[in-house]
Amino acid sequence: MSEKIPATLIPGDGIGPEITEAVLTVLDALDAPFVWDRQLAGMAAVAEHGDPLPKPTLESIRKTGLALKGPLTTPVGGGFKSINVTLRREFELFANLRPAHTVIPGGRYEDIDLILVRENLEGYYAAMEHYVAVDGDPHAVAISTGYNTRAECRRIVTFAFEYAVKNNRKKVTLVHKGNILKCLTGIFLEEGREVAKNYVGRVEVDERIVDACAMQLVMNPWQFDVIVTTNLFGDILSDQIAGLIGGLGMAPGANIGTAGAMFEAVHGSAPDIAGQNLANPVALLLAAGLMLRHVGRADLAERLQSGVDHTFNVAKVRTRDLGGVAGTRDLAAAIAQAVR
Ligand code: NAD
Repeated sequence: MSEKIPATLIPGDGIGPEITEAVLTVLDALDAPFVWDRQLAGMAAVAEHGDPLPKPTLESIRKTGLALKGPLTTPVGGGFKSINVTLRREFELFANLRPAHTVIPGGRYEDIDLILVRENLEGYYAAMEHYVAVDGDPHAVAISTGYNTRAECRRIVTFAFEYAVKNNRKKVTLVHKGNILKCLTGIFLEEGREVAKNYVGRVEVDERIVDACAMQLVMNPWQFDVIVTTNLFGDILSDQIAGLIGGLGMAPGANIGTAGAMFEAVHGSAPDIAGQNLANPVALLLAAGLMLRHVGRADLAERLQSGVDHTFNVAKVRTRDLGGVAGTRDLAAAIAQAVR
């Protein structure tokens, strides 16, 4: 019998509970090793505890160091802090890993196989912002200060190269804007070049200015392998990459840090389709696949991936966002059958 691994499960808001149930159906069929501690966050937690990120949830993640999180609705107003930013800071989840693989052939782009590594804690997302008054207008000028540290730049680029070595990847591209933001992203490039020297002969290094990279991702995405970049650029490019593989319903993400790791779908809580058995659970399911790899169960992650491939492409069971007619539960049942 395989070792049981305690993990926190946050079903989340909107479509969160239904896609979480779908994921559990497939993980049960796989006999995945997780023992779940269910906790609340988001609007569900506001209703129960008056807090979108209550203490028991944080304590659970502190204990397990491992969480699978459904999408959370950000409460509007009321002075709530961003839950995702709080979680990243609290558990120092410095690396955001977003793989993009083509699962359904015949889309705009075939054979996409890209990994984006985004720095998760620094850059402009430090969000140190203020207004400056001019001529009686208190909001005449808006100022935002970003920061990057050399230590964090080294850490995120090292993470990307180590990922490349472990996963048999050939190239890492450093994406920056060092020609204009000479200090802020210049140090990312400088440190990236230094880190790359440790991998000569094992992993190729390449560089791109972010705007050129965005254009080339549309013109010829196959030239890239692993991309590593700072926070804001990574946020934008990772959604662009999700667009290459059929959209947000297919895009998983992992937040990895020194004190834990949290896995989630890239998409939000989709309130427009919540509770209607229409949501595609595959992004969260692939996030669970990343979680299986993280705990050393690549064998189960591969079975999961093959089950998804088989269900979409051989059984042709697909949800509405992929042009099919299957409901969330039908898709989960079909993938569960395929992985058994
Ligand atoms: P969204 O990703 O929830 O939805 C955008 C569109 O994509 C909608 O039309 C939705 O129906 C569709 N969609 C999303 N996921 C889908 C799926 N799995 N299957 C089928 N269709 C899907 O983005 P939004 O509407 O801008 O945000 C809704 C809420 O989610 C907001 O409160 C936002 O703050 C939150 N959000 C949370 C996260 C997170 O928790 N990681 C991420 C993004 C947005």
